[in-house]
Amino acid sequence: MTDPIRAILEAMPEQHQGDREAIGRAYQFAEAAHGNEKRKSGEPYITHPAAIAKTLAAVGMDRDTIIAGILHDTIEDTATTADDIEKEFGKTVRFLVEGVTKLSKLKYRGLDRHFESLRRLLVATAADIRVIIIKLADRLHNMETISFVEPESKRIRIAKETMEVYAPIAERLGVTTFKRPLEDLAFQILQPGDYQDAEQAINVQRSEMEDALDAALRDVKKDLAKAGIRNFSTERRIKGVYSFWKKLAEKDGHIEKIYDLFALRIIVPTIEDCYRVLGVVQHAYRPVPGRVRDYIASPKPNGYKSLHTAVITGRGVTIEIQILTADMHHENQFGAASHYTYKEQTPRGAASGLWLRKVVPRLMKSKTGQTPKWLKDLGTAIEHAEHQTLEEALKEDFFAERMFVFTPKGDVIDLPVGATPVDLAYAVHSVLGDTMAGARVNGKMVAIDSELKNGDKVEVVTKKGARPNKKWLEFVKTTGAKKHIRSALKT
Ligand code: MN
Repeated sequence: MTDPIRAILEAMPEQHQGDREAIGRAYQFAEAAHGNEKRKSGEPYITHPAAIAKTLAAVGMDRDTIIAGILHDTIEDTATTADDIEKEFGKTVRFLVEGVTKLSKLKYRGLDRHFESLRRLLVATAADIRVIIIKLADRLHNMETISFVEPESKRIRIAKETMEVYAPIAERLGVTTFKRPLEDLAFQILQPGDYQDAEQAINVQRSEMEDALDAALRDVKKDLAKAGIRNFSTERRIKGVYSFWKKLAEKDGHIEKIYDLFALRIIVPTIEDCYRVLGVVQHAYRPVPGRVRDYIASPKPNGYKSLHTAVITGRGVTIEIQILTADMHHENQFGAASHYTYKEQTPRGAASGLWLRKVVPRLMKSKTGQTPKWLKDLGTAIEHAEHQTLEEALKEDFFAERMFVFTPKGDVIDLPVGATPVDLAYAVHSVLGDTMAGARVNGKMVAIDSELKNGDKVEVVTKKGARPNKKWLEFVKTTGAKKHIRSALKT
């Protein structure tokens, strides 16, 4: 067994029979497929999927997800086909790898709209959350190795996409394991000066806070023992650099008003224990008034559950104490993905679409009232899902008004339903529309007034001297196309 395979297996919290064999086989399959391909760093390409598989293993994802992580770039970058993957590793792995491949086909278009499209597509195409988890792990490794990417403008583009699309998705889905490192890595590239300042401010506080946490931990252990609570574990948590920086801005730079920079987490077996521990802690320390938060009774929109309280310790230092059960802790870290981890296996049949049913309604309850439109659309789709499968409802309602088609280069264009190749041409560029002579959809020539379907790959055929026709106005759906056709007809 080679070391990378061992590293993946060792990262798994728990292995089942057959995992070793299948994961080892997947690694060798991917290694052979990628052959002499290299990363920008000069390392063999296989180091990238191996790193992703290790991350997926470490967060406890199931075997199929780990295998799909190892194979995630094989369809796109090598001669491997989806059929090959299914034959070797089964239908689920095929589905996951194809999902990731589809997501990679999206290209950045440098517009705000792009982010909206990408977000919508991420959610809509990934009917199985494991696709998004693999994509997040993929993005995390690409961010970790981004220094090899040239030129700088490309690094900034990737970091921006990470900050505006991937980190919010990780947050929305409650996968904090990925959210924080994605944000911090992107922040470092987008605002290097602010990153340095924030990191330094945290470090200044660190030594004092660590002493305070140590002292608090000793006291808490004693107090809990006195109250007869012995079955608990603790950990410290330091806020992420970006999240700290954002909060600092909210508090107008008053670092002393940030109570949760350093927190002590107390993990207990039952919900009842949580409230008992809270009672002990509130009694032993001076609580900061108005700083108790019961996220068990009312979880955060992304599902986060815990009791929070800020207390002033014996040394006069304020720390946050978070009290939660082991199950909550697990769900807080992995969010919607927790159902696919070893800890919480669900029957496979119920799996597809389950996360949407469970998570999306929860996301809709955003307290800020600023539910983005794409989420509302999703929510509507789910409400109407009773009489059909969720996937059907999602496809119907979610795409009731808009659809996405691809250009030959893989750009995704967002169009109203019923749009034609002419609409697509003008959506890309007016010159493309003005010189259009025909269209190929999914490789076949079609009439230019034919209706496009979601997911179509559309190629516009141009001819020198071609001109828009007045008849086009009768079938185009977008106002942009109408406007350009009219102005072209005038000249
Ligand atoms: Mn990749």
